[in-house]
Amino acid sequence: MTGPKPRPEIFSVHSYVGGESKLPGVNRVIKLSSNEGAFGPPPSAIAALAEAGKHMHRYPDGGMTALRNAIGKTHGLAPAQIVCGNGSDEILQLLIQAYGGPGTELIMSAHGFSIYEIAGKLAGCRIRKAPEKKLTTDVDAILALLTPATRMVFIANPNNPTGTMISDAELQRLRANLPPDVLLVIDAAYAEYVENYDGGIGLVDTGDNTVMTRTFSKIYGLGGARLGWGYAPLPIVDVLNRLRGPFNVSTAAAAAGMAALADPNWVTEGRAHNTRARTKLAAQLTAAGLKIHPSEANFLLVEYQTPERAVAADQYLRSRGVIVRNVKSYGLPNCLRITIGTHDECDLIAESLSAFQKLAEPALADG
Ligand SMILES: *Cc1c(COP(=O)(O)O)cnc(C)c1O
Repeated sequence: MTGPKPRPEIFSVHSYVGGESKLPGVNRVIKLSSNEGAFGPPPSAIAALAEAGKHMHRYPDGGMTALRNAIGKTHGLAPAQIVCGNGSDEILQLLIQAYGGPGTELIMSAHGFSIYEIAGKLAGCRIRKAPEKKLTTDVDAILALLTPATRMVFIANPNNPTGTMISDAELQRLRANLPPDVLLVIDAAYAEYVENYDGGIGLVDTGDNTVMTRTFSKIYGLGGARLGWGYAPLPIVDVLNRLRGPFNVSTAAAAAGMAALADPNWVTEGRAHNTRARTKLAAQLTAAGLKIHPSEANFLLVEYQTPERAVAADQYLRSRGVIVRNVKSYGLPNCLRITIGTHDECDLIAESLSAFQKLAEPALADG
């Protein structure tokens, strides 16, 4: 073939496939495939977006000073240590561009978030996957993969798509055993759903090689705005600021994010709803005979006996207008990942999957 040729790494990945949102012939789809918050955007963010529209001829403040101040105030952090991004995905990609590259190795967990692998391969890194224990990050397995070429370790805590997390003590033990030039990235996209969890702030504060990433796409209900941020030691912040586009976050996203942060009850209510609805749904599905993995996040991982059964359950839900996520691409072909929606949406899931269990139940060899 003639014509321009991209770098060979480009063809080592498939582009990221997001959760589907449409079903042929269904008007009102119930989308529980992307872990978006259960309640839509905060009303205050919708109003702030409308207001921001009036000034859309102006470039954003490239330094995102007001937003970083607001984030700093909410979480008790120094704004100078915060970098905002076009979703936290951008922060993850920038970190990989800065610290990865050909000849380097990136370690992630076997069923860790797919962006690390995609962005890592695109940057030319070799991806090493550490086996998990009970679908949970295993610190010893990660440490066993360290080589002189290791530059980065990525951990989503809680992890997507498994929903499991490891303790602060385990993260500290991991960090204590990493060479000082290896970057540890704690992706805390679901931190707000966990009671009394700082997402890794303490780890960032007590070392030179740890970064935490956060997002407005989950509990804040602003996935479409594309807004995330990283909290890092100053030398890493400096690197990210050199690398990022000068106006990588839009005025609209910043306005929506600041309004969401200012809503005093949004996070606490969202978390309370999630815990209650998730506990109830897990109990209902367990009672229906399904295997449910314990989750700290806003989704449940349901495991079937075979991949075919998982596909059939997915199809059954689709026939009822509900889209969930088949996580075969994460190496979990027996599993469906189901976002915790409103109580009504959870009830529909419970009722549908219970009905599916009774329907054409495969003959079990032994009762
Ligand atoms: C959803 C998610 C993100 C967030 O991505 P954004 O780019 O901020 O929308 C990051 N990490 C994990 C593990 C996620 O599940």
